Amino acid sequence: MSLTLERAAMDTAMTELHFRTQAFIDGQFVDALSGKSFATENPATGKVLAQIAECDGADVDRAVHAARQAFENGHWSTLKPSDRKKALLRFADLLEANAAELALLDSLEAGKPISDCLTIDIPETIHCIRWHAELIDKLYDRIAPTGPENLGLIVREPIGVVGAVIPWNFPAQMAAWKIGPALAAGNSVVLKPAEQTSLSALRMAEWAAEAGVPAGVFNVVPGFGETAGQAIGRHRDIDMVAFTGSTEVGRLFLRYSADSNLKRVILECGGKSPQIVMADTAELDKVAEYATNAAFWNMGENCSCGSRLIVHQSVKDPLLEKIIRLGKTWKVGDPLDPETRLGALIEKGHLEKVLGYVAAGQAAGAKLVLGGQRCLEDTGGYFIEPTVFDGVANSMRIAREEIFGPVLCVIPFATEEEAVSLANDTPYGLAASLYTRDVNAAHRIARALRAGTVSVNCYSEGDMTTPFGGFKESGFAGRDKSISAHEQYTELKTIWMQLS
Ligand code: NAP
Ligand code: MG
Repeated sequence: MSLTLERAAMDTAMTELHFRTQAFIDGQFVDALSGKSFATENPATGKVLAQIAECDGADVDRAVHAARQAFENGHWSTLKPSDRKKALLRFADLLEANAAELALLDSLEAGKPISDCLTIDIPETIHCIRWHAELIDKLYDRIAPTGPENLGLIVREPIGVVGAVIPWNFPAQMAAWKIGPALAAGNSVVLKPAEQTSLSALRMAEWAAEAGVPAGVFNVVPGFGETAGQAIGRHRDIDMVAFTGSTEVGRLFLRYSADSNLKRVILECGGKSPQIVMADTAELDKVAEYATNAAFWNMGENCSCGSRLIVHQSVKDPLLEKIIRLGKTWKVGDPLDPETRLGALIEKGHLEKVLGYVAAGQAAGAKLVLGGQRCLEDTGGYFIEPTVFDGVANSMRIAREEIFGPVLCVIPFATEEEAVSLANDTPYGLAASLYTRDVNAAHRIARALRAGTVSVNCYSEGDMTTPFGGFKESGFAGRDKSISAHEQYTELKTIWMQLS
């Protein structure tokens, strides 16, 4: 599914946009108890879009209380699976009916190209909710292989109140990856969006309620990480936290859990993903397209950004030439222009951080062969050119740290062993891609790579049927998408019966 939106239709949609700026708690839009709010900005113009309710610990308490009551009254948690499915399918239908609005909200708040929002983010958001809804009445529990004197039931139950804390790079989609399986499994959810991107989650909550998800089951508490995020992490009545964001903040959630109620924590964190190109790779034109997309898609603000191109020395120069040529065609500009492929970075501080990495790469002796400059400064937005460094050593900071910008590091290799060793020489392990014509090498290398997803002869995260998450410091204890995601929002219970 992919949506199109003509400029004129988009302009109309823009005039009809209405922002929801209050928190959504117990089925109602409410101000923060403190009365405070914070500004959300359009990173493509630097202008304020709206003032959003600034929730803190008190509001999180209120949301958790509502979520717990909703869980205990059973209107959702023990609803017949087929009825829970119906409500979530209605929710998906409402998202689809309002897809253009949702796409606009994410594009405006996150600086993402509208064409990406319409063809990737929002279709995947809808598909995620629908996929998890459809799963609800197709899962069976198990019976243990006991003797005739016992009956051992092994059942899955919703875990209770789930806190979800998410980043700004795919606002609606990250929300869907958490709430899809969590709500499908019968939990209540308290979601904190990233401070830069609250608008789509707030509308999603409204549509979920309209679809019949009962009050208190899905709450959204916009606010800051240090206050609202930490309050979720430390809350004694939250049973589980699902977090997506940086590895640095992910670590904090393990501490919060250890210091409070040992709530279950699953972490989806950062990455520094390799793309290996073997000497026998055919169709370098295609590889160049995948590699460029891996590096520049979503402005490189992508956890599985293919930021390290580990390429056999014999094909490096021709491939690099193609990548540079392609990179120059990636239009940087107004995210609302359907031709734009690179929108704005999320905020000024982040642009400065990315430019700092460009300077660090140059200082370390890497060769800047494309981009590297801030551009379109007169718009007031935070734009940067697609950037490529040649002659990168894997020990350089630009090859080790997650830049989260459109910056590709090219690292040559001579042998397969060296390629694998370079690819794995990172604290991260989220994703990897591999290009080769040799099916044996493909299997061998895919198995040797320490990453949660390895895509072969393409750049891909798989689809809704495949789990997504990281090895090493890219993740902890969980996966988004697929049946694995559903199961992680459940507790396993044994019911042991003595029969006479
Ligand atoms: P972030 O700074 O770690 O923030 C993520 C979330 O945590 C935000 O809601 C944030 O709130 C909150 N937070 C920040 N400090 C906190 C604290 N002290 N206590 C509790 N919560 C806190 O990450 P980001 O900059 O938004 O997003 C980029 C990162 O996400 C990258 O590292 C990227 O790789 C990762 N990511 C991973 C995946 C995956 O599936 N593995 C997917 C997408 C993104 P504020 O908004 O107020 O800071
Ligand atoms: Mg942040």
